[in-house]
Amino acid sequence: MTTIDAEALEAFATELLGGIGAPESIAEKVATSLVGADVRGHTSHGVLRIPTYRAMIADGVLVPDATPECVTDLGAIAVVDGRGAFGQFVGRMAADHLCDRASEHGLAAVGVRNGTHLGRMGEWAERVASEELCYLSFVHTSGGGLVVAPAGSTTRRFSTNPVTCGVPTFDRLPFPLVLDMATSQVAHGKLDAYEADGRSIPGEWAVGGDGDPMTDPGEMGEFRADERWGALRPLGGTTAGHKGTGLAMMAELFAGILGGGPVAGQREPGAWFSNGAFMLAVDPAQFDDRGTAARKVEALVEHVRAADSHPDVPVGDAARDEELLLPGEAEYLTRRERTDGGVPLPDRVVDSLVDVATECGLDHPFTV
Ligand code: NAD
Repeated sequence: MTTIDAEALEAFATELLGGIGAPESIAEKVATSLVGADVRGHTSHGVLRIPTYRAMIADGVLVPDATPECVTDLGAIAVVDGRGAFGQFVGRMAADHLCDRASEHGLAAVGVRNGTHLGRMGEWAERVASEELCYLSFVHTSGGGLVVAPAGSTTRRFSTNPVTCGVPTFDRLPFPLVLDMATSQVAHGKLDAYEADGRSIPGEWAVGGDGDPMTDPGEMGEFRADERWGALRPLGGTTAGHKGTGLAMMAELFAGILGGGPVAGQREPGAWFSNGAFMLAVDPAQFDDRGTAARKVEALVEHVRAADSHPDVPVGDAARDEELLLPGEAEYLTRRERTDGGVPLPDRVVDSLVDVATECGLDHPFTV
């Protein structure tokens, strides 16, 4: 593990993104989002993605100098075509649009298509909540990158289809309440993290092609590997996987119908993913006064925090820490630690970034 200062990592990521073809103004925005994910504890959506983006550029599915375009603008409803640009650039444009229009109309909906990889969806929820607006989104991958089986199956039929909600906290908390989660038991990146540490994964996370619990994360294979490798289980696992399956289907349909791009089943297996999304922002001040909303947030937070913490009742293998936190609090706490203490990067991630730097003829800040 190597720990690197967040600002130094952002400067290096900007250089690397420039090296793989992004103009400086785009590289800066994408680097801010990637390091923002690393700083909040989501290594799986941080700088480790740069080598994948390089491969996507080589295959023509990511266009590093492309600019997203608003192709439909009906006031409160808009459609943003990412045109294969960096997804973090596309997501930023969509979130800005949501904020402008929801402030004007009371609510706004944006469909996103050809978004490549929108990254950590919580970033857009935080952006919208920072304007005291509520946020909801559904995401799909345009039929590519399928890694999740429906309940009762071993066959890959969905991506990890994140569902994200954000509620502003009206100065009652130092962070917005943001639930940002894959609709699988865990995000695909969590398996990579376990594999890098040489750890087994809990049998509840994934199922092997033979139907037995998969405990070796290496058996999951590559992101684009075919379905013989087994699959992640839907959220709810062997107890309530029907709920995760239903959520994934709804995410596919909201993102596919209202955002755009093919849904799972409309592309050949093993195709590259490209995010489509449906994003909604609602102004709570149009429904009731700010003070009432603030008191509701405060009451609920106090109520939840007052629950006992029983030593025999685990929060869950995939949660941060062993205590119950509020949605978005894990990201807030991790950001506080890493802003001063630096960002830990697994050796494998450092090696892959050094490889890209070397191939692009760039210096790197690591000692290897
Ligand atoms: P996660 O399991 O790390 O966190 C899910 C939610 O649980 C978060 O809101 C977090 O604040 C909360 N949480 C964490 N620890 C907690 C605790 N101890 N108590 C209470 N709440 C806690 O998230 P995930 O499902 O692994 O998803 C990771 C990221 O991957 C997300 O940012 C998501 O947007 C992103 N993602 C993106 C795509 C894409 O295609 N763009 C696909 C899948 C996932």
